[in-house]
Amino acid sequence: VVVLDGTTGSATKQARALGGFLRHGLIGETAAVTLLLYDEAADRERLVEIAPTCDVRLVRTAPRRSDLAASVLTRVARNEGAALFIFAGGPGGCEAATRLACRVGGSVLTDALSLEVETERLVCRTHVYSAHLVGRFELSARPWCVSIDASWHDRAVDPLPEHRVLSVADETDAAGAASFEDVQLVAPTAAGDLAECRFLVVAGRGAGSREGVDRIAAAARRMGADMGVSRPVAMSAWAPIDRLVGVSGARAAPALCIVVGASGAPALHWGIERAARIVAVNPDDQAPIAGNADAVVLDDGVAVLEALAEIVARHWESA
Ligand SMILES: Cc1cc2nc3c(=O)[nH]c(=O)nc-3n(C[C@H](O)[C@H](O)[C@H](O)COP(=O)(O)OP(=O)(O)OC[C@H]3O[C@@H](n4cnc5c(N)ncnc54)[C@H](O)[C@@H]3O)c2cc1C
Repeated sequence: VVVLDGTTGSATKQARALGGFLRHGLIGETAAVTLLLYDEAADRERLVEIAPTCDVRLVRTAPRRSDLAASVLTRVARNEGAALFIFAGGPGGCEAATRLACRVGGSVLTDALSLEVETERLVCRTHVYSAHLVGRFELSARPWCVSIDASWHDRAVDPLPEHRVLSVADETDAAGAASFEDVQLVAPTAAGDLAECRFLVVAGRGAGSREGVDRIAAAARRMGADMGVSRPVAMSAWAPIDRLVGVSGARAAPALCIVVGASGAPALHWGIERAARIVAVNPDDQAPIAGNADAVVLDDGVAVLEALAEIVARHWESA
C-alpha cells in the first residue's frame, strides 16, 4: 500500500517522489495500490490523476489529522493484511510510518533509499553515520512500514496516464475534536539571558534527577541567580535547552558562577571561564572543575546549595 496524504498541501511532491521510488527504488514483484487520503471533494479528481500507482483507493478524512490517518491505516493493516506500507519522505511520512508500525506491531524504517521485497523479509537501505555510509537493514515483523528518503523528491518521474478507483470511503464522521485542541502553550520556567547575567548557578548531572535540578533552580532563584545547566541535564530534559552553558549553548561572564554537580569538562568550561569567580560543589576532588575553581566544596550539591540559599535569605532579611 502506497500512502498519499492529499490533506497536507504537498500531495504533488509526495506523489512524484513515491512514483520515482516505486519505479527505481523498489526491487521485487509487488502489486501496489495507492491509499489516497483527501479532504476536499473538489480536489479528488486531480489527486487521483497524480497517484503513483494505477489502482487507487480513496478515503475522505479531515485535513491534517495524522491521528485519523493512523486509524484508517490501522484498519487497513489489520483487516486486509497488507505486507508493506510505503510513505512519502519528510517528517509527515516518518511519523505516519512509525505510528502505524507501533499500533499494529509491525516494523518500521524511515528514510529508505531502496527496498527489496522478499517472501519473509524486507531488505532496506538507508543512510547511516550522518550519511557517510549506506546501511542495510532487514525488517521481519509485518507489516513493514517504510518512509522513503527525502532525496527521492529530486528524482521524480511523470505521473501515470491511467488510474482505476477501486473503492471510496468517507471517514469524516470519525473526525471528532482536533487532536491538538487541548494543547496549552507553557512558557519556559527559566528565563534570563545567560550571556548577560551577573550571578550564575550551573547544575550538572550530579544533581541526580529532574527533582534535584528543580531544587537547585529554586535555591538559585532565592539567591537572585540565573540558572544554567550542563549538556547531560539539558539532554535529559531536566531543564529547558535554552539554559545550556558551554560550546553548544551560552557563554557567560558573571561576577560569580557556582557550578553544582558538573565535572567541568572543557566543553562546559568554555561557557564559564570568563566568570570573575568560580565556586564548585562536587564531592570528587579529582573532577576537572576542582582544578579550575577558585573554591571547592566537597559535598552534596543540592544540600549545599539549599543551605547556602537559606543563609543568603536570612542575611537579606536581617540587612
Ligand atoms: C561537541 C561537543 C559539544 C559539547 N557541548 C557541551 C556544552 O555546551 N555544555 C556541556 O555542559 N557539555 C557539552 N558537551 C559534553 C561535555 O563534554 C561533558 O560530557 C558534559 O559537560 C558533562 O556534564 P556534567 O558535568 O553534568 O556530567 P558528568 O561529567 O557526568 O559530571 C557529573 C559530576 O557530578 C558530580 N557529582 C556526583 N554526585 C554529586 C552530588 N551528589 N553532588 C554534587 N556533585 C556530584 C560527579 O563527581 C561529577 O564530577 C559537549 C560534548 C561534545 C562532544
